[in-house]
Amino acid sequence: MKAMVLKEISTVEREPLRLEDLPDPVPGPGEILVKVSVCGVCHTELDEIEGRLQSKLPVVLGHQVVGKVAALGSGAKRFQLGDRVGIAWIYSACGKCHFCQGGNENLCLDFKGTGCHVNGGYAQYTVVPEDYAYLIPQRFSDSQTAPLLCAGAIGYRDLALSGIQRGQTLGLFGFGASAHIVIQVAKYWGCETFVFTRNEEHRELAKKLGASWTGGSEDQPPRKLNCAIDFTPVGETVPNALRVLEKGGRLILAVIRKKNPIPSMDYSKHLWDEKEIKSVANITRKDAEDFLSLAAEIPIIPEVQEFQLAEANQALILLKQGRIQGSCVLRMPD
Ligand SMILES: [Zn+2]
Ligand SMILES: [Zn+2]
Repeated sequence: MKAMVLKEISTVEREPLRLEDLPDPVPGPGEILVKVSVCGVCHTELDEIEGRLQSKLPVVLGHQVVGKVAALGSGAKRFQLGDRVGIAWIYSACGKCHFCQGGNENLCLDFKGTGCHVNGGYAQYTVVPEDYAYLIPQRFSDSQTAPLLCAGAIGYRDLALSGIQRGQTLGLFGFGASAHIVIQVAKYWGCETFVFTRNEEHRELAKKLGASWTGGSEDQPPRKLNCAIDFTPVGETVPNALRVLEKGGRLILAVIRKKNPIPSMDYSKHLWDEKEIKSVANITRKDAEDFLSLAAEIPIIPEVQEFQLAEANQALILLKQGRIQGSCVLRMPD
């Protein structure tokens, strides 16, 4: 099969992913083989390529995978050949540790991420334990589904953990793949959304999707924020968001890694009055399942730019430069 392979840590501008022929993977007991149709491109892949997040190497990246079941490993019986399934960031969890037992499999001591600890979806085929694949609602095309599996599902977890209530104000810092889905859920829930981004095109998309105000991260929104979600990879947005957070408000940090340190903060200005900060790590299978059905109900329609598998480096460079509107997916060759 054709796959884009990462062999060593590098800046993405050096185009480190190489198109290679790899043997088709074989599904083990309880696993399914998926013939990949499209795979979403995520900021986490930039963290992996540039070494902020450690992957096994060499690795096939990609954790927003959509395709059809092409073979069943022994004992696998959840799906039939030809079923359309998705695979998300959670590739497996142990099921036994106290995090798994307590319903927090996203924090599992043996958490495995798709396209990080095991090969993912930048390839024509991939394998996954059948319990970690999801049937896709019919109303979505393959391309529309891919961003729902990470950008959407993680965004949904961010929103849930923010504690936002109907009619409250929500601030979104950064407006990429995840935020452009989150805003559609927030609107459905009757929340007023303010979007903080310097990028003019992202501001336009935010307004089109229902933002009532857009500005820069240091600007003052018309009202204080009951909740805020920070999707940016920079440290400065943290004090900026806390400064405009309402008393008792919560700031969610959605990224896996910040590229630069969070500046020192003033306790009275940024944290006093019961303000909270919470990071979000990974997703559970329930997050993905709940979000896919909510997305079909609303419905959420992601904006998608499509690239060929062999163009993965170029897509990642555009993503790093903030030049992707909405989400970006790779289409596999037949
Ligand atoms: Zn992701
Ligand atoms: Zn566990």
